[in-house]
Amino acid sequence: MAAGFSLPRSTAQTRAKHWGYAHAMRAIRFHQHGGPEVLRYESAPDPVPGAGAILLRVRACALNHLDLFVRDGIPGVPIPLPHIGGCDIAGQVAALGPGVEAARNGPAVGDAVILSPGIGCGRCPACDACRENECPRYTVLGYGVDGGYAELVKAPAENALPLPGGLDFAAAAAVPLVFLTAWHMLRTRAGLQPGQQVLVWSASSGVGSAAVQIAKWMHCRVIATAGGERKMELAKRLGADEVLDHYRDPIAQRVKALTGGGVDVVFEHVGQATWEQSVRSLANGGTLVTCGATTGRRAAIDLRHLFARQLRLVGSYMGPRSELRELLPFIARGDLHPVVDRIFPLAETAAAQRYLQAKEQFGKVVVTLE
Ligand SMILES: [Zn+2]
Repeated sequence: MAAGFSLPRSTAQTRAKHWGYAHAMRAIRFHQHGGPEVLRYESAPDPVPGAGAILLRVRACALNHLDLFVRDGIPGVPIPLPHIGGCDIAGQVAALGPGVEAARNGPAVGDAVILSPGIGCGRCPACDACRENECPRYTVLGYGVDGGYAELVKAPAENALPLPGGLDFAAAAAVPLVFLTAWHMLRTRAGLQPGQQVLVWSASSGVGSAAVQIAKWMHCRVIATAGGERKMELAKRLGADEVLDHYRDPIAQRVKALTGGGVDVVFEHVGQATWEQSVRSLANGGTLVTCGATTGRRAAIDLRHLFARQLRLVGSYMGPRSELRELLPFIARGDLHPVVDRIFPLAETAAAQRYLQAKEQFGKVVVTLE
């Protein structure tokens, strides 16, 4: 995080007055951890950007399962309360903090931007190497700091990237976290090569819908899973070559039959419920890459399979901003496109989170601000 990211309140009020915006914004906050019922639509102090930061007028914020984990409370992870969640943000630059004015190619007031969700310390070997997602002090907007379920949010200026051409704010907000995560998993961590075969769990999830597209764009053969006829049809339309029903089909068995021995890469984000089938779906020498565990974090593996079949188990967490920058032109060109399922007004964020939790959606759920 940039130095001087927050200012003393007195300075903050002076600056707020100087910029001529109201001191209190509308925001969705929680004061204690719990279910969607802890979310309150209320007034909150305007954030004030410190040195090197910008203030953004939020126009849309996409939901992620991370928002639910943060709201529920993560054992051993202290979240500052009251807290504003929301890590996938699109909006317009409202003000620049000290020092940002001089930056070349930096954001200007009025620019339409998306925010790269990850924030590193900016001065460690990982950050120096543009691998801020390996920074020991790495955090994410809406996780360790306030996020985008609000009229205004502050963020380091370097996190602001131009809004990909042709997208509205809701579609743009649906891009950063899932496309960056899927891109980093497949290309960087798993080393996916054109022509390989990939199993993508749950194409209806945000990250799954991104992974199907990226793998197809890389000329890979994609076997996707989805739950039920409607979502299977949508997964097919997204480009998946084969779609299996993860509630009914014996996945590993079907994958082996379809591929003649297993896939080169399994794209995992489901965790406990799918782990065993994931391992069994791999070809010898295959790679299982995982970024999450929405169904549980305990997994077992038969070590004989790991060594005798020369499998690779690879963890992945978000991705560096440089990779988001790398993929945005392909979003702008329409090679890859965010999938927005449903849009809620900010005031109905609790309903939006319940909808996400109920797993009814195909793609991203987004809240917007007028
Ligand atoms: Zn760092």
